[in-house]
Amino acid sequence: MTGTAGTAGTVTNWARTITYTAREFHRPRTPDALAALVANSPRVRVLGSGHSFNRIADPGPDGVLLSTAGLPSVTDVDTAARTVRVSGGVRYAELARAVHAHGLALPNMASLPHISVAGSVATGTHGSGVTNRPLASAVREVELVRADGAAVTIGRDDPRFDGAVTSLGALGVVTALTLDLEPAYGVEQRVFTELPLAGLDFAAVAAAGYSVSLFTDWREPGFRQVWVKRRTDEAAVPFPWASPATTALHPVPGMPATHCTGQLGVPGPWHERLPHFRAEFTPSNGEEIQSEYLLPRSKAMEALYAIDGIRSTVSGVLQTCEVRTIAADTQWLSPAHGRDSVALHFTWVPDEAAVLPVVRRLEEALEPFGPRPHWGKVYEMPSTVVRGLYARLPDFRALARSLDPAGKFTNAFVRELLDE
Ligand SMILES: Cc1cc2nc3c(=O)[nH]c(=O)nc-3n(C[C@H](O)[C@H](O)[C@H](O)COP(=O)(O)OP(=O)(O)OC[C@H]3O[C@@H](n4cnc5c(N)ncnc54)[C@H](O)[C@@H]3O)c2cc1C
Repeated sequence: MTGTAGTAGTVTNWARTITYTAREFHRPRTPDALAALVANSPRVRVLGSGHSFNRIADPGPDGVLLSTAGLPSVTDVDTAARTVRVSGGVRYAELARAVHAHGLALPNMASLPHISVAGSVATGTHGSGVTNRPLASAVREVELVRADGAAVTIGRDDPRFDGAVTSLGALGVVTALTLDLEPAYGVEQRVFTELPLAGLDFAAVAAAGYSVSLFTDWREPGFRQVWVKRRTDEAAVPFPWASPATTALHPVPGMPATHCTGQLGVPGPWHERLPHFRAEFTPSNGEEIQSEYLLPRSKAMEALYAIDGIRSTVSGVLQTCEVRTIAADTQWLSPAHGRDSVALHFTWVPDEAAVLPVVRRLEEALEPFGPRPHWGKVYEMPSTVVRGLYARLPDFRALARSLDPAGKFTNAFVRELLDE
């Protein structure tokens, strides 16, 4: 991001595939300045760390883009209650270090620790693991600045809570979140190579560790790598289906593994193994476009065979595909809402014109399984179809209207979803 307060023309997302069209860009330094900006602006969208690949954060040409990165960073750990109160703009790398210093841990992390907490939970961001829910499931309380500049806190015992965390930024500015913690744990990570699709026991492979990711470039019908992250306080599960790698590997074939978290079974603290990429290495931008779909986990093999059927189309523009599992959660707009899910992720080459037709073809192939697209990634499914995948959308619409009657926090992306 290159924008400074007052200008928006050069503010881009992390991948530099989106230039935001806001008329103004602001990075307030105090909560009062933030509240005044919100109260006095006709249309506002908040930018987290900018790791989304679509226009979800873009307020449009008449709106104000507001970054929380200039606000004081808060990571208040309560060791007795095993919770942390974190300001919205803090990134997971900083949060994890603070929490670990108190002998505590988060239940899971995404592949990259450089993403902001508020932005991640707003889009349903997840890691992997058959019993691990999306990152939003650790949240127990959300603090928001509403359209009129007033503060509101929504906790787990509030009937609005299941709409308030994975909220696409449509309810207000998330200034702080309180998250549940657990005692710190160790994780060891092993990578296995060349797992064929034929005869794959997906349920067994996905359950072979606390967090398991399968990677393929779809040039062959099978997986180049399987990353198994085992908690050291849990028993090891044998992995008879593929051979262990003898050197550290990057999920994109041919890329050096220097920036990847420790592999080869060397134990480390949870936050240095659960993400695939190390926190010390700060990626400024990536040469990529991403898409991801969450489907009922029971359909995993059928969905994998459906992609295998269009393998040559997909592989032509693909850097890597990652397959993960996520346990069902209760957030109304979570792509894992109400169903144990398999997530099919695609890191494409940075060529939108070549990628979008393949995205459409992929969506056709996955359509029988009711795929819910990741809110922060590229998809082409019509909003009429997406709306039909969320039974609680009317409840979310009502919640958004009650907190923000004039639609100050909406943009084209959100309006397409919410408009009846
Ligand atoms: C390299 C890479 C790896 C990734 N890995 C994963 C992964 O492992 N798992 C996964 O599920 N996703 C993954 N993602 C996607 C990423 O987690 C999401 O795009 C997430 O939203 C990024 O958070 P952000 O802060 O960058 O959000 P932004 O893109 O900045 O914003 C996303 C949304 O959140 C809203 N928002 C942000 N901050 C606030 C706030 N304080 N108040 C109100 N609304 C706010 C914005 O308005 C917008 O609607 C990855 C992305 C990249 C680039």
